[in-house]
Amino acid sequence: MNIPLLNFLFPNMCCICKRYGNYICDDCKKLLKRNLPECYICRRLSPQYSSHTQCRKCCSLDNVFVGWEYNHMSSSILKLYKYKNVREISMGLSELFTDIIQRSSFQPNLAGTLLIPVPISDTRRNERGFNQMEYITSCIGKHFNLDMKNDFIYCKNSDFHQASKNKVERYNSKENPFYLKNHNAKDISKYKSITLVDDVVTTGNTLEKLSKVFRTQYGQNLIINALCIFRGKPYYLPSESSPLC
Ligand SMILES: [Zn+2]
Ligand SMILES: [Zn+2]
Repeated sequence: MNIPLLNFLFPNMCCICKRYGNYICDDCKKLLKRNLPECYICRRLSPQYSSHTQCRKCCSLDNVFVGWEYNHMSSSILKLYKYKNVREISMGLSELFTDIIQRSSFQPNLAGTLLIPVPISDTRRNERGFNQMEYITSCIGKHFNLDMKNDFIYCKNSDFHQASKNKVERYNSKENPFYLKNHNAKDISKYKSITLVDDVVTTGNTLEKLSKVFRTQYGQNLIINALCIFRGKPYYLPSESSPLC
């Protein structure tokens, strides 16, 4: 069946306000608030999205792009796309996300990179039936013509992302739920960098633990970047100036 006919029979609908047109309509789009280019650690401005030299000493990530602020609109989108209509919403979200990456100063960092979606545990995958980040990452890969690898890293702990653990408990947990399934360095040596892809970042603990696994295996010369769709307002632990240091 051709695309115009499919669109006629099953018109696209905004996943938020249900208006026909795009998966996320122009009015709803306006309610998403763009994040400024910032350092992933101290959250002060950084025009190229790079971690400041000082900040880089206490984290494993080199450049981190964040799309929008986590607010009521982003929260509604995430709830919808995690539990239903994953393909439609992921498509809408990926279109918007790739568009803002393309127009940002982060875009050159994508040249020759390998995309790696943040994994979920098998328990979580069985409950939900899919890892929505794999879908989003493959859309980004198609748009920028980049490879994606989703069988590289494994998440062994289904409790790691649980909402029952508060931010301080999750931050203090020494446990690293991720490990590499394939230790063959040749697998990533042909790429200029790796780029982790996640939907929501709060303290940055998940990305930090994931990148530590790569640092341990491949050393300090590997460039590790990340693309995150949403991030909340800065959150700092009591008596600390930065969430990760
Ligand atoms: Zn709408
Ligand atoms: Zn900084």
